[in-house]
Amino acid sequence: SHVLVCGGTGCTSSGSARIIEAFEKELDHAGLTEEVKVIKTGCFGLCALGPVVIVYPEGSFYSRVAPEDVQEIVEEHLLKGRIVKRLLYTETVVEDQVKSLNDTDFYKKQHRVALRNCGVINPEDINEYIAYDGYQALGKVLTEMTPDDVIKTLKDSGLRGRGGGGFPTGLKWSFAKASVDDQKYVCCNADEGDPGAFMDRSVLEGDPHAVIEAMEIAGYTIGANQGYIYVRAEYPIAVKRLEIAIGQAREMGLLGKDILGTGFDFDLELRLGAGAFVCGEETALMTSIEGHRGEPRPRPPFPAVKGLFGKPTVLNNVETYANIPQIILKGADWFSSMGTEKSKGTKVFALGGKIHNTGLVEIPMGTTLREVIEEIGGGIPNGKKFKAAQTGGPSGGCIPAEHMDIEIDYDNLIAIGSMMGSGGLIVMDEDNCMVDIAKFFLEFTVDESCGKCTPCRIGTKRLYELLDKITKGKGTLEDLDKMEELCYYIKENALCGLGQTAPNPVLSTLRYFRDEYVAHVVDKK
Ligand code: SF4
Repeated sequence: SHVLVCGGTGCTSSGSARIIEAFEKELDHAGLTEEVKVIKTGCFGLCALGPVVIVYPEGSFYSRVAPEDVQEIVEEHLLKGRIVKRLLYTETVVEDQVKSLNDTDFYKKQHRVALRNCGVINPEDINEYIAYDGYQALGKVLTEMTPDDVIKTLKDSGLRGRGGGGFPTGLKWSFAKASVDDQKYVCCNADEGDPGAFMDRSVLEGDPHAVIEAMEIAGYTIGANQGYIYVRAEYPIAVKRLEIAIGQAREMGLLGKDILGTGFDFDLELRLGAGAFVCGEETALMTSIEGHRGEPRPRPPFPAVKGLFGKPTVLNNVETYANIPQIILKGADWFSSMGTEKSKGTKVFALGGKIHNTGLVEIPMGTTLREVIEEIGGGIPNGKKFKAAQTGGPSGGCIPAEHMDIEIDYDNLIAIGSMMGSGGLIVMDEDNCMVDIAKFFLEFTVDESCGKCTPCRIGTKRLYELLDKITKGKGTLEDLDKMEELCYYIKENALCGLGQTAPNPVLSTLRYFRDEYVAHVVDKK
């Protein structure tokens, strides 16, 4: 038997380390330490029900497990073969029959590609990754494919950047490959900073080798032998597992000099970000790796031509990389068979706010917002009505109930004034004031503006002051017009993405919930 205990951040904070200790003690007591293996995995996704434990071979999904419950699981389930029904996730029990986790509302519409190993393998053991096809894509690329073959596969797959921009990955790599230089770099953006977002964190915590393998493939493709992973220092579990993974890959000859005896050299270093949101912007991230204050620089030149240390650089985010080994192994057609016409594959979202199943979900592009909220998310608690969902964090916008049937993809979200962003999805119910929501996100960007350019440094501050005046009941209708004008000015003139998108929460709430703004002003008609 195997006992899988979630070691992701959600379950760690709800006490999964004590569950593991309790299992070790009880298994020892029952004389089962040889027969039963306890594995600490990455995130299963159902963070709201943590700590979660799955017992195999039955696949029994126990939720909200307390250390006191462990003795019963060991004595009843592992010793006597009797599933402890009172601890089972209720969705898996129908009329006294236990059904598969994949048949529950939470999982049945999900499709795990980037998260495929999260909650399945022990991320601190490279052998488990290898047992699940790990490093096979690297082997295939190094022995059977030319760099142009890799680029063609990525282009044909339709993979677009999961960090928010949605730029075609194959095209980006082809630009970096075409740049001629004696030194090139591969970077990974793991500086996830949106409030409520934890997609990249979960991938790194649950499957760090997938990112390492993909970065090596990028190195081979563009002609780089050095990579950097820029990860938030506030993600200690992700940092620790990356360090372990890099060490194990080096030891097994899968990273470093002469990888797999092919003569290809590639090594990786971690750089820890100190918590500045702007360092998630690609040029600021590279400036920070170079050892300078993390401020954006104008583009062009783009990183593929002149990036890290002035050299051609490929930079992708964690989730983008996590898709790549699977695309290489299963082919472009497999990947492009999922999703919509212009957005292929799946997208990971961190589901939060007023929703039953807060947690991590991965859905095929084209799934509707209604399916995500009502089926996967289990609906809104306390019988309240859905009001809006915020995607894209402080750069994104609110999607109101009238657009609940929209198919989620890059272009559809932009068309309704929001954006995919990196995958934060925060649900609001009828009790939320949308003016407060806009204020919350704007306050965040005012704090995080690096101050390099005036439209963002001064503009967002003035915008915040107007919004603050309105929420205090002192604003006028004229102030609403001023805010709109200021929003467009900031969008048009700010230097980097942070400033250019900062007004989006205000603009989208003004577009869909203007009546709530009007309700706050003194001269409402
Ligand atoms: Fe800095 Fe804002 Fe200008 Fe970006 S837009 S460079 S964050 S001041």
